[in-house]
Amino acid sequence: MVDFKGLEAFDDVQRLIVVAAHPDDLETISGGTIALLTQRGVTVFSVNCTLGDIGTQDAATTRPAVATARLTEAEEAARLLGIQQVFSLGHHDGELVADLELRAQIARLYRITQADTLITFDPFWTGQVHPDHRAAGQAALDAYMPSKMPLYRPEQLREPGAGLGLLKRVFLFSTSREPDVFVDVSGVYETKLAACMAHRSQFPNGLESLEWLQHWDEERGTALGVSRAESFRTMEIW
Ligand SMILES: [Zn+2]
Repeated sequence: MVDFKGLEAFDDVQRLIVVAAHPDDLETISGGTIALLTQRGVTVFSVNCTLGDIGTQDAATTRPAVATARLTEAEEAARLLGIQQVFSLGHHDGELVADLELRAQIARLYRITQADTLITFDPFWTGQVHPDHRAAGQAALDAYMPSKMPLYRPEQLREPGAGLGLLKRVFLFSTSREPDVFVDVSGVYETKLAACMAHRSQFPNGLESLEWLQHWDEERGTALGVSRAESFRTMEIW
């Protein structure tokens, strides 16, 4: 087995920002780890690049109606996980592009949250079939360097509490490229499932709708010798 770390990989984290594409990404992929970190006193900020506004099979509803419902669900899930604040960047679901506008939006959040750690999608995983996931991960990484430079979008630095970006470490999720962090989430799994089920528009049959996720987390738990685990890949930054 490859050498890997557990929750201690996050020992130095104080302020964490998670850049996701859709309102339920954080909860399904990393909800257990986030619950463990907020229990430790880590301040967590959640960023949804899109509104999740095509997340329905009901052709009779509208995109604004879906977006409104999903924002409410995201707030409820955040409360369950102890997340400090949810930011929605307002892009349309299924149409996210890692362009200069998205880069600036994310850099602004690095600056106003003063986060020291980023979790985002692995944009380099060739098996990533969702374009929004790839774009969110790419834009989150692209925003890191400019966020530290004072001449980049200097108006952002005049916002209350803002300063140059302070990110020191990055963990990528939704990757199959040899994860090197496996977190035992068995002890908080009920909390994770409750946060996922808060997204009731996505999982209308509750736990039954989440069997795939439980299977997925069990598989990763097996790698660690525990019942349920989540995995990440560390990325060196400087
Ligand atoms: Zn997603």
